Amino acid sequence: MSPLAILGGTFDPIHLAHLAVAWEASELLDAEVRLMPAAVPPHRPPPIADATTRVAMLRAALCGQDRLLLDARELARGGPSYTIDTLAELRAEEGERPIVLLLGADAFAGLPQWHRWHALFDAAHIGVLSRPGGTHGWPAELAAEVAARSVADPRRLRERPAGMIVELDVTPLDISATRIRDLLAAGRNPRYLLPEALFGDPALLAPYRQS
Ligand code: ATP
Repeated sequence: MSPLAILGGTFDPIHLAHLAVAWEASELLDAEVRLMPAAVPPHRPPPIADATTRVAMLRAALCGQDRLLLDARELARGGPSYTIDTLAELRAEEGERPIVLLLGADAFAGLPQWHRWHALFDAAHIGVLSRPGGTHGWPAELAAEVAARSVADPRRLRERPAGMIVELDVTPLDISATRIRDLLAAGRNPRYLLPEALFGDPALLAPYRQS
């Protein structure tokens, strides 16, 4: 069965690296990829753009292709959006279908700070997306999980619903939402770092220009 892969994030704003790595992950895993904006990220400062604007940016960015989809369930749920709860919900819907949680290498390195992080391996596979400037070596507790669970071939994730870790060698793109927010706040125009569609509606990028 074709896996379901999830790329969660604040998408504040969505940028071209999000789209590129999600697209490449979809190809490498032969998976449906859903971008899932987080409502109240438990472990980081609140987003600049509100949830409605971030969803509008995602919709605009995803227009015109059908490989990457939007799943806004965490915004609908309200309260802190713990990934483990979202994965439990997806598991109830998807049965034995392999589910892959996609994480940039930076996010993966921080996994031991997540709510019930060990339980994540029972709920999903993890696909680690290479990211420039990433960490060299994982924290010890994470390294133990990597040693026990790593597979080299992304296609092996089809064998089971959850529990494996695969490093996905996507094209390194040194783009971050932080950098884009800084550029916009400084009055610059990050034209070719963002999806073209975000420039079609002035309301979408206004929150960053005013902050
Ligand atoms: P910020 O700069 O605000 O922290 P970000 O650019 O990291 O934002 P997020 O919305 O936090 O974007 O990222 C969502 C997911 O996408 C995370 O797992 C993150 O690691 C991954 N990601 C973001 N940018 C890249 C990139 N350039 N290469 C690989 N993965 C990325």
